[in-house]
Amino acid sequence: MNLEFEANRIESFSEFEQLRTKMQHVLDSRYLFEKSLASSEDSFVLEGTCGACVCPTTFTAVTAGGEETPSNQRVPNWRETLRCGCSYHLPNRYRAVLHFLKAKTGLQKWMRVAIFGSSDLLASSVEAETGNCHYLPRLVRGLNDIGQPILRLEDRDRARHIVISLDYLHLVPMLRTALFEVLRILESGGRFIFTIPFHAHSELTSSFTTHLPRVEGLHPAEFGGAVHDIGWDILSMLRDVGFSRAAAYLYWSEELGYFGPYNFIFSATR
Ligand SMILES: [Zn+2]
Repeated sequence: MNLEFEANRIESFSEFEQLRTKMQHVLDSRYLFEKSLASSEDSFVLEGTCGACVCPTTFTAVTAGGEETPSNQRVPNWRETLRCGCSYHLPNRYRAVLHFLKAKTGLQKWMRVAIFGSSDLLASSVEAETGNCHYLPRLVRGLNDIGQPILRLEDRDRARHIVISLDYLHLVPMLRTALFEVLRILESGGRFIFTIPFHAHSELTSSFTTHLPRVEGLHPAEFGGAVHDIGWDILSMLRDVGFSRAAAYLYWSEELGYFGPYNFIFSATR
């Protein structure tokens, strides 16, 4: 059984601004609720339901390194904690992506999936669902026939029904080139699903690529730190390179352990 993934589907910065105005009181109450969970313990447990396996479970929140309150308590980094007690054992963000995949694509056995970028945490869970999840650690730089720089995912397999990337695109100087490559390895109708450290209050992406070291005059395929503060124009970039149905999904749920101020999953279709 798959659980519906409840979220606000947003296609542009102006849609986000309208939604934010409309639901400001909801956002405020979520924030206050999360603050109220601050603890002086190193970790604590919350009861809820796992959106990935649809079972009652407990989420473990780790407060180490979290934001400190005036009363010397700490608020966990919600995005990276709240690990589920189920067999997936995934923290908030990864569990939400797995839930999103199941709800929006069904994650069937016949689907060919690729995950690329710096995290393989989700790959084994998706592999367990489909039996065909290829983990590609990184993009590789190359040149096309007329000497222009390209990025390759070195995927010699057949085209993919789903391509996933978790918090990686902000490290890729040639962002548009990377989006072209994702489009190339997707089946027609296939979906690109990703998360990024998202700058939800920025309409435009700020890029810091000018002073990056170059190899043979070209940017590296990826960099060790953020080279883009990605804003809402990521959706128009996706449309420009040929994706359709590009949208951001804003989600939050106390029951499912999806805490944090602005949780987004992005999806675009080839
Ligand atoms: Zn679970």
